[in-house]
Amino acid sequence: MQTFEQVSKEAEALGYKVVLADLDSWDPGGKIITINERRTPRNQTVHLLHEVGHACILAEAELAGDYYDRFPGLQPDADSHVHTMSEFEQEVLAWEKGRLIAYRLGIPIDKNFHRIKAKSLQTYVEHHEESTSNV
Ligand SMILES: [Zn+2]
Repeated sequence: MQTFEQVSKEAEALGYKVVLADLDSWDPGGKIITINERRTPRNQTVHLLHEVGHACILAEAELAGDYYDRFPGLQPDADSHVHTMSEFEQEVLAWEKGRLIAYRLGIPIDKNFHRIKAKSLQTYVEHHEESTSNV
């Protein structure tokens, strides 16, 4: 549970508030990271690492002023395939960034982290397959 506090401090350093509610989300506009309160503390930390990863990627891109060079598909006029790929790329990068944050904080990355990462990315891909097959 202490590790959750450690990662929360990383979020706070980036200007985010961490709240427990009924879903996992990252809201860059409202500067709020929400973590599902029904998860086990261990899984909450894994999801928090991922969401802080998103916040970190955005902060770095804003600092460098190259967000749309990194994620061209997230420009308002991008076509939907490029949009989906940039979103997916950001999902993968947020997991990697979360892993690096854990490493820096001395939080062990275990099988559970990889299982949740794989499951989340799989869900993303499956959701996208469903939405394109209906087009
Ligand atoms: Zn994500």
